[in-house]
Amino acid sequence: MSYKNLGIIGGGQLGSMLSSAAKKLNIKTIIYSDDINAPAQNFCDEFIFGDYNDKKKIIDFVSKVDVVTYEFENIPFETLNEINQIKTVLPKPSINRLIQHRIAEKDFINKLNIRTTRYVEIKKKSDMETLKDFLPGILKTTTMGYDGKGQYPITRLKDVEIYKIDFSKDYILEKLVKLKKEISVIVTRFDDKKLEIYEPIENSHKNQILKFSKIPAEINEKLFEQSKDWAIRIAEELKYIGTLCVEFFIDKNENLYVNEIAPRVHNSGHLTINAYNVSQFENHIRAVCSLEKIPLKKLSNAKMINLIGDEIEPYRKNIKLNENEFFFDYLKKEVKKKRKMGHITTLI
Ligand code: ADP
Ligand code: MG
Repeated sequence: MSYKNLGIIGGGQLGSMLSSAAKKLNIKTIIYSDDINAPAQNFCDEFIFGDYNDKKKIIDFVSKVDVVTYEFENIPFETLNEINQIKTVLPKPSINRLIQHRIAEKDFINKLNIRTTRYVEIKKKSDMETLKDFLPGILKTTTMGYDGKGQYPITRLKDVEIYKIDFSKDYILEKLVKLKKEISVIVTRFDDKKLEIYEPIENSHKNQILKFSKIPAEINEKLFEQSKDWAIRIAEELKYIGTLCVEFFIDKNENLYVNEIAPRVHNSGHLTINAYNVSQFENHIRAVCSLEKIPLKKLSNAKMINLIGDEIEPYRKNIKLNENEFFFDYLKKEVKKKRKMGHITTLI
């Protein structure tokens, strides 16, 4: 049996692209978001605005759907768990809880004998004093971070004073990896161990925000296979249902590390819309709604550029695109610095 009415928590561009993919499959989307201006309301069938703790509105949302998924991680576990008592939530709420906590996430990955950066938990300011061998490092809030938010590069202990860090929150201190490259691998896992995997994508960041992605990634065969192998092992271990992305670091000595896992569709996978027969969004819908799995076929190499802040403006003024270029406007009302406003994929 497949599901026809899909609830999506979160109303950003990932919600928009999930809604567009669902439409193609005749699946109705109902989005719940705490942002009254959520851009995905332009793409879904029904939109509910409410706080993630508003029980009444959540119950109303749940009554309209057959199954629930989410397009960002930072949703209170209690909310997902309560919804899951009434309608299935996929990926499972326990997976979201694990991954939204940077330390639990890295502990889990290390238990699989998969390499991550070296890390240590920081509960109070004085914890930093004895940790010189983790410097230079990056101090990150253990929860709620995205696009580099809540992150502080620390070279010397003095830097802690400069940033005026709020130690009422919990942090993780990660040793800085001397990066050669960053890549990501996207997997969609269906029931019964069946999965589809996209080839590794090479990513470049600017100010800790993804700027540029491309396939093929310029990496050697060993890293190509190892990154796919690790992504599959993670998806299997979690008994994951839906699309998942694993972000990797490659250091100057060609060592591979898992940076983090995203229990959702991912920005680096936007190019799958044009470069594959089935996008990461469509595959996610297929997996969570129990639809048929279609063998994945790559149609073209591709690159994707994120349009951040006012970089969107010229494209909104009807710039002429070539046949191999695809422009996506997230229809966000307000242009803000550091905000992802749209993207362009070029098939190459
Ligand atoms: P977010 O949740 O904001 O995506 P990430 O942990 O992925 O946080 O960090 C964002 C980016 O910052 C990474 O993609 C990478 O470019 C850089 N970065 C983060 N941690 C490290 C590290 N330990 N070593 C080197 N670069 C890092
Ligand atoms: Mg990241």
